Amino acid sequence: MKRSETQNYTELHRKTQNNAVGTEQMSEAVKAKNRSFVVEINQEWCKGCYICVDVCPVEGIFHIEEEVSDKGFRRVGAVNLERCTGCMLCELLCPDLAVFVKDI
Ligand code: SF4
Ligand code: SF4
Repeated sequence: MKRSETQNYTELHRKTQNNAVGTEQMSEAVKAKNRSFVVEINQEWCKGCYICVDVCPVEGIFHIEEEVSDKGFRRVGAVNLERCTGCMLCELLCPDLAVFVKDI
């Protein structure tokens, strides 16, 4: 095999490998898109700082309820969970460890 042919083969092999990785990453992305999450708030631990409301990048999930709790602040709730991307920001940034995101 000539040197130029070897180079061509190496280049072709490299492109094939790159395409294989790309296809694998794409199927992972599709899988992530089809995942569902539940978001639970432990009302006993929550202190009403509303960080979760501020950090969630998806509109319409966290909200502040009208009712004032026995601790003297308005509770947070999570709805429209089909919109949750599972980014975990709410769970990671809650200072009271009161948010749990579960992959279902
Ligand atoms: S971040 Fe945690 S403590 Fe703060 S409002 Fe949300 S659930 Fe409650
Ligand atoms: S996991 Fe991300 S998208 Fe889902 S509720 Fe928490 S912050 Fe919002």
